[in-house]
This record gives sequence, structure tokens and C-alpha cells, in this order.
Amino acid sequence: MSVKDLFDLSGKVALVTGGSRGLGLDMATGLGEAGAAVVITARREQWLTTAEAELSAKGISVTAVACDVSDPGQVDAAVKGAIGRHGRIDVLVNNAGISWGEPIETMPVERWRQVFETNATGCFLMSQAAGREMVRAGRGGSIVNIASVAGIAGLAADVLDAVGYSASKGAIITLTRDLAVKWAPSGIRVNAIAPGFFDTRLSHTLLEKTLEKVERTTPMGRIGKPGELSGVAVFLASAASSYITGQVIAVDGGMTA
Ligand code: NDP
Repeated sequence: MSVKDLFDLSGKVALVTGGSRGLGLDMATGLGEAGAAVVITARREQWLTTAEAELSAKGISVTAVACDVSDPGQVDAAVKGAIGRHGRIDVLVNNAGISWGEPIETMPVERWRQVFETNATGCFLMSQAAGREMVRAGRGGSIVNIASVAGIAGLAADVLDAVGYSASKGAIITLTRDLAVKWAPSGIRVNAIAPGFFDTRLSHTLLEKTLEKVERTTPMGRIGKPGELSGVAVFLASAASSYITGQVIAVDGGMTA
């Protein structure tokens, strides 16, 4: 295979959770540009419809499906729907995520549970539903989990004070490593991306307060730009990374170096 062919996703089907905006939409765009048919999911139609139109206008084959990743019934229906339409799932990007900023001393347990339900349980449920189909189909596959630098190391409170979020991202990293080992015999690779800070709906309000400190403590001196995750997602989704599993790639301008 030529190097270009290694990154080619033509004929593959990729499901991206939280693909309606932000980093998920960026990665869905990259996977689509590499040739994959893309299924994007999120809870709210308002962003899904716009994202579907944006991807479609780029010539990408796209289906948008409303699905809350913390609801087992909706997850099953989304995966079955994708297989019903395309006959297969080759790539799953577990990107859907939420956060709740609060010091540990006052963090309400309901918020902790809500963040864990979306970030960690959602990643588990989607991996279970899509992974089962990948095992059954016997073609292998690639699962890419979106963690965070906050799941790798503790962060100062004036950079990020969101204990439930950080712990849920640590759980995603451990889930990544365990699933990689469990599913290696089935040819399913499981890796994680740990982004540093990117300006999205999730992080915008926080960055208004912390940007200066984040830039000062990031060796490259800046936050991530749109498009700086999509190439990494394509790499992990494609044959270009065929001997890599159970790894976490930090895309963070050197924050964790
Ligand atoms: P956004 O808020 O812009 O996007 C989040 C996406 O997830 C939306 O599509 C949202 O749609 C969807 N989503 C949220 N909750 C659920 C749910 N229960 N079920 C299904 N979909 C859901 O955030 P980002 O693009 O910044 O975040 C994407 C991922 O990247 C997250 O996992 C985040 O933790 C991670 N990340 C982000 C960083 C950053 O600096 N921005 C840094 C490190 C990691 P809807 O609300 O309609 O459901």
C-alpha cells in the first residue's frame, strides 16, 4: 500500500458521537474527506441539521441521528440504524462529552453522575454496541476515544476545576487500554486522543478566564486550532496506524511533555 492508501477510508463507515459541532464535527469532516461515509450523532437536532448540511455541501456522505449516548436504548438504535443503512461500522469515535466546573469541596454528586453518565458510561455503551457488531462482522475496526489532558494529569484549579470531568476522562483512558487488550484478537484497535485546550462551545466561557494562563503553560504558547485533531483521528481510524492499539495521543501543544 502506498502511504496515501494507508490513510484512505473509502468504503469505510465511521460513526462520530457528538459530531454536530466542535471537535466532533472537525473529526467527522476529516474522516469524510478521507473517504468514509459518516454517521454523526448528538442529542439536539438544531446543531445536527446544520452539521449534516455542512458535511453534505463538502461532498461527504453523511447521516445525522439523534442519540443520547447515556441511554442504552438510543445507543442500540443508533448503531443498528447505521448498520441498517450502510451494512457496517468500521470506525467509532467516542467524542460526545460534557463538563461541570466546580471545586471538589462543593461539587454536587448529581453533576458528578451526569458528567460520568455522558463521558464514561456513554463511551462504554457506544463501544459495547458498535464493538459487538465489529466482532460479529469479523472485519476488525478502530475505536477512537476522546479523552483529555485532564485525564492524564492533575491540572491547577485556575486552568481547569472540574473534578468529575477529569475523573471521567481518566476512566476513558483506562477503558481504552482494557478494550484494546480484550479486542486485539478480533482485530479491533482501541486508542484515545487527549486534546489540550481548543475553543469550542464546551470550553469558550472557561477560556475567557483562563486563556492567558493556558497559553503561558503550553510550550507551543497557544491553544489548538480548528482542524488540528482531524488528521490524528484519520490516522488512528485508518490502516496508517494498523499496529497501534491501547495508546493515548496527546494533542496539546506540549502541555503534557
Ligand atoms: P462541544 O460542546 O462543542 O460538543 C459536544 C458534542 O457532544 C455536541 O455535539 C453535543 O451535542 C454532544 N453531546 C453532549 N452530550 C451528549 C449526550 N449525552 N449524548 C450525545 N451527544 C452529546 O464540545 P467539544 O467539541 O469541545 O468537545 C468534544 C469532546 O472533546 C468532548 O468529549 C470533550 O470533553 C473533549 N475535549 C474538548 C476539549 C476542548 O478544549 N474543547 C479539550 C479536551 C477534550 P448535544 O449537546 O446536542 O447533545
